[in-house]
Amino acid sequence: MASLTQIVRSVLERSPASPEEAAFPGPLLATQRRLPGPRRRGLHVAESAEEYHAEVSTPGTAEVIAHLRPLAQLQQAVVLAEAPDGSLYLIDQHRAHERVIYEHLRSTYMGGQREEQATDAHLLLEPVIVEMKRHQADLLEMRLPMLRGLGLECERFGGRSFLVRSVPDGEGHEQLAAHLQEVMEMAAEDSADWEDHLLIELACRSALRRGRELGLGEQAALLKALAMVSAPAACPHGSPILLHYSRNFLIDRFDW
Ligand SMILES: [Zn+2]
Repeated sequence: MASLTQIVRSVLERSPASPEEAAFPGPLLATQRRLPGPRRRGLHVAESAEEYHAEVSTPGTAEVIAHLRPLAQLQQAVVLAEAPDGSLYLIDQHRAHERVIYEHLRSTYMGGQREEQATDAHLLLEPVIVEMKRHQADLLEMRLPMLRGLGLECERFGGRSFLVRSVPDGEGHEQLAAHLQEVMEMAAEDSADWEDHLLIELACRSALRRGRELGLGEQAALLKALAMVSAPAACPHGSPILLHYSRNFLIDRFDW
């Protein structure tokens, strides 16, 4: 009896209180820090590509993405793609597209301010009325010329109402009309970073949604566009865009 108690005790002492986590190598996350907030010099939003810092330095990420071959779409949300070295990449379609649009808006908006050319605007068939709170309305009114430079043609419609006549031209602009209330609230944000937040909001609302089916051609076009951006690893909100299963991971797990 005493020996049985001893055995039970020794077994209990050996087994850890909670099961150890399975050592699963898992995918590598290509990460990048959120973009630094824009430097403000007067009304300029100045940011250079040198200011992007990769947390996990993945030299040549753009180079790798440029050579990805799309294989399929998972759950109408993630593009699966093969790299020339036989590794697998998973790309979040919404975040990838959001990053592409954000960088495009950013460069044209900044360029527009420099060259005093406005970003192309897409006229809405029906102007949209948005309602602001009082403090938002006054801020928004002051910013109307800047919004015009971004392709957001907007005018005060008496009181706290504003009439939005156009949205920035470009991919996904047809989705924007349904989200102008949120967009204009961002444009009226009482923050030094409001321009950056507005560009992120516009990119998010214009980007491909999850649940959108993409053909192989569209997947390839998205990857090609992502290869051109300066920070392809993270969406403008700071979330990861890519997961990477290396060939060594497959060799290890399948025991090839
Ligand atoms: Zn988003």
